Amino acid sequence: MHELSLVCGIIDAACEVMQNNGATQIEEIELEIGLLTGIEWEAFDLAWQTARRNTPLAAASCHIAKKEGRAECLECGRLYSVVSLADVCPECRSYFKNIVSGEELRITALVVK
Ligand SMILES: [Zn+2]
Repeated sequence: MHELSLVCGIIDAACEVMQNNGATQIEEIELEIGLLTGIEWEAFDLAWQTARRNTPLAAASCHIAKKEGRAECLECGRLYSVVSLADVCPECRSYFKNIVSGEELRITALVVK
C-alpha cells in the first residue's frame, strides 16, 4: 500500500498546482522517481490507474524519468552506482555513504488547461 499513498500524494500535489493556476484539467504530468525509493513499478502502475479515476488527472499522460541510485563513499570519496541502500563501496567495501541520487520523488512538469 506504500505505492498507493505515494500516488495519492502525487495527485494531491498536482491538483493543488492546477488549482493555483486556475485550471481544471491536467493533460500531462512528468515525474522523476529514484530507483532507491523501493517502489514496485507494477504496484505503482496499478495504484496510478486506480487512484486517478474521477480526478483532473484521469486522462493525463504520465511520463516517468527513473533515476539510477548513486552514492559517494564517505571513506574514500568514490562515486558509485547503488541498487540497494545496503550496497558497499566497490573500492574500500565501506557501508558509509552519502546518497547523491536515486531518492527523488517529485513532479518535474505539469501541463494544465
Ligand atoms: Zn570507499
